[in-house]
Amino acid sequence: MVEVDLLIRSGTIVDPARNVEAPGDVVILGNRIVVPPDGAVVRAARVIEAEGCLVTPGLIDHHAHVFGGGTALSVLPDLMLPMGVTTVVDAGSSGIDAFEVFRRVSVEGSRVRVLCQLNVSSAGQITEAHPESLDPAHFERRRIAALAARYPELIRGLKIRCGAEVVGRFGLEPLRAALEVAEEVGLPLVVHTTNPPCDMDELAAMLRPGDVLCHCFHGKGSTMINAEGHAKPKVREARARGVLFDTADARTNHSYPVIRAALADGFRPDIISTDLTISSLFGNMVFGLPVVLSRYLEHGMTLAEVVGAATAAPARALGLGGTLGTLGEGAAADVAVFALRERAIRMTNLAGEEMTVRHHLVPQMTVSGGEIVYRQVDFL
Ligand SMILES: [Zn+2]
Repeated sequence: MVEVDLLIRSGTIVDPARNVEAPGDVVILGNRIVVPPDGAVVRAARVIEAEGCLVTPGLIDHHAHVFGGGTALSVLPDLMLPMGVTTVVDAGSSGIDAFEVFRRVSVEGSRVRVLCQLNVSSAGQITEAHPESLDPAHFERRRIAALAARYPELIRGLKIRCGAEVVGRFGLEPLRAALEVAEEVGLPLVVHTTNPPCDMDELAAMLRPGDVLCHCFHGKGSTMINAEGHAKPKVREARARGVLFDTADARTNHSYPVIRAALADGFRPDIISTDLTISSLFGNMVFGLPVVLSRYLEHGMTLAEVVGAATAAPARALGLGGTLGTLGEGAAADVAVFALRERAIRMTNLAGEEMTVRHHLVPQMTVSGGEIVYRQVDFL
């Protein structure tokens, strides 16, 4: 007899980290997942019936803005929980200057697990009204290194926005300098790439294994697709050497034609994330991570691929594979339950591109650290 706290029974488990997509139970003791031996009798203090639902590891939104109250574009982190998201990575909202406030308020004050990619620009990305300063002479390398060394479990990467309107006259200099800083502190660099100041091929060629090219399917300026409709050669080379491609869709940082061309070419994203901000939360253009995942289902990716791109893959990118993003033995007891609902819903993005999404991952319940933190009223 195995005595546990919570049993989520008879759902369809989708756990790409373990190659599982089959009916089964999820068992939780304390804040960990337990996988009882075959045939063991499980007695649970609480049983949830999940028949007809999909049960996945708690989702990881690898790119969002959750420094709520600290920047003009951020949302409150715990608004992620009703979307099945149990881990969110803040993508450079905070730089070193406001970091202690970010840590105390957004990280320690939240139920959802918050990790971050620290902006190389000291003030962070605080507003959409004007870009952050990316003069490499202003990068405070010693303070960045000291902060990264002090909070290694929280700061999982550095972030830079390498768009022409952000870098201005500095061109590729800020990216080169940021790569040097990332190398010095031993962290991946996450690079915003819309409207790059060079060809996407040239930008991709600069990135190192483990670095993240985000907004990979953007349609502004030079894109990852060449005139013949194929992924560019240095983009392919970057993937082959271990650069990760994150969609970070946002309202405007993705293009349906680019996505279709990339997928037709066999170029799937490693990570699917939202780039969620206050302007896109619960709005038709982004809404939240399950809606973005549903769009990639519609684009032709499989359920295992989209769930993997929001669980196993970001967990690996964060150096937390096996602990997060899986329902394997000993993993954090973070679980999401979804109904897959059929209904044609028209969705648009800020570029005016439209698509009809017919299957929707609708969150039914979220478990974070072994506790039920969200439940749809009719999910009993
Ligand atoms: Zn962003």
